[in-house]
Amino acid sequence: MTDTRIGLTRQAARNVIAKYGIKGPPVGVDRIAASEGLEVRLMNSWSSSVSGLLLREEKLIGLNAQHNRRRRRFSLAHELGHWFMRHDFPWHDEEVTIDNPPAMEEGGKPPEEGEADEFAGELLAPRAFLKDVMKRTKDAAELADLFDISEEALWVRILRHKLL
Ligand SMILES: [Zn+2]
Repeated sequence: MTDTRIGLTRQAARNVIAKYGIKGPPVGVDRIAASEGLEVRLMNSWSSSVSGLLLREEKLIGLNAQHNRRRRRFSLAHELGHWFMRHDFPWHDEEVTIDNPPAMEEGGKPPEEGEADEFAGELLAPRAFLKDVMKRTKDAAELADLFDISEEALWVRILRHKLL
């Protein structure tokens, strides 16, 4: 991803934070989805390799019920990235439905996936919130609890923003 794309992606996430008047962590991604008119459905039938799916026309987001809650929050934020950044996917041949999500791509992922991940990270832990909270604590477990994200996702944000 180019620096320009990273900047635009982070800005898109911060615009959503501003739009919904969110002042600090944890970011209510469920509320954002509901406010956008998106239904979120937990799917028990999916293989564990599928995390989430956005069906734009149906205004429906599926999340894998087998994954833990923090992972589902990240997946929801990722699908919201596709939603807000208006990503569209060329699913020509496959019949993609909520019960038949696309299989994981072998090899290279399309650039939209990296963008949606960056959006998700910035939506769940915006740089300004992270900087502010890190004045009080730098304990990773405590920070992960405050933002309600995995420690792994937290570390990605801290390192990408060079906050250590
Ligand atoms: Zn995606």
